[in-house]
Formats: sequence, structure tokens, C-alpha cells
Amino acid sequence: MILSEIKTGSPEETKYLGEQLATLLKPGDVICLNGDLGAGKTAFSQGVARGLGVTGAVTSPTFTLINEYEGRLPLYHFDVYRLDGPEDMEDLGYEEYFYGHGVCLIEWAQRVRDVLPQERLDINLIREANAESVRIVYFEPAGNRYQQLVEELIKLVHSGN
Ligand code: ADP
Ligand code: MG
Repeated sequence: MILSEIKTGSPEETKYLGEQLATLLKPGDVICLNGDLGAGKTAFSQGVARGLGVTGAVTSPTFTLINEYEGRLPLYHFDVYRLDGPEDMEDLGYEEYFYGHGVCLIEWAQRVRDVLPQERLDINLIREANAESVRIVYFEPAGNRYQQLVEELIKLVHSGN
């Protein structure tokens, strides 16, 4: 499995990384975000939303579990931190989203790993010890589509655009 990592030095840089990823997204893409509280999952999501052309505020849907936005593609932003169990995902009708025509962004995705599609992009955000504003963003693609996506993203980041 390819594992790529990118370091960001500020919340804005993390958002910009999300924004760059957004330019490459296609209908049906599933992006899973993991990392502790405050790691930057929502910051990254805000960047993705911006990159998809979503206007207006994007906040963690912690209590609602999902927020829907309209951009270049529909954006389904999940935060499953407060999920009680898999039945909550059933109640949400998750399959309509995961196998639909929009982009799914799932904060705390590991909590619902049993229902995640096998092919997806896992992104893990880790705080760097002793550096308050640094995050290491690990990309773990599963499946051809997502390996290609990460390769394109790395190229985009390195081209400085
Ligand atoms: P999560 O959704 O993972 O709980 P948030 O995105 O809500 O995290 O919060 C991240 C917090 O960390 C924010 O307060 C942000 O200002 C701060 N921060 C500091 N450095 C970074 C960075 N490089 N990337 C993202 N957030 C950062
Ligand atoms: Mg969050």
C-alpha cells in the first residue's frame, strides 16, 4: 500500500491541502478522516468544501451526524464521533451517500469502519510533538481510484499550485 505524507504548518495550510484535493474529486468519492480531537479534520473538511465551491460556513456536524452542501458536486460531511452504534448509520441511510453521486467526507471514520466501502481514501492527521501548529497528514489510499488520486494530489502539491 502506498503511504504518502504531507506536513502542514498552520490551519490555513491544512485547509489549502483540502482545497487542492477537492479539485481532483469525482462523484462517488469517499474520503475518511481520522485523528484525535483538534487534529484538524474539520479544518481539512472546510478546505475541501471551499475547493468544491461551497459558500457559507462549514462546521463539524457533531450532533446532526451529517451536513449536506451544494458545490461543484454535492458534499456530504459526516462526523460520527457521537454515534452510538452501527444502527445509527442504518438510520441515516448511509448507503445512499456512500454509493451516491456526491463526495463523502467522514470525520472519525474508523468508528464506523465496518460499514465503510473497501475502496476509499483514509487520511490520518497527527499532531507533531512539541510543535503546536504542525500536523502530519498521512494519505492511505485503498483501490486504484484512490492511489491515482493521491498521486495526482502529491504532484499538485509539489508543483506549488
Ligand atoms: P478536529 O475536527 O480534528 O477535531 P479541528 O479542525 O476542529 O480538529 O481543529 C483543529 C485545531 O487545531 C484548530 O483550533 C486549529 O486552529 C488548530 N491547528 C493548529 N495547527 C493546525 C494545522 N497545521 N492544521 C490544522 N489545524 C491546526
Ligand atoms: Mg471536527
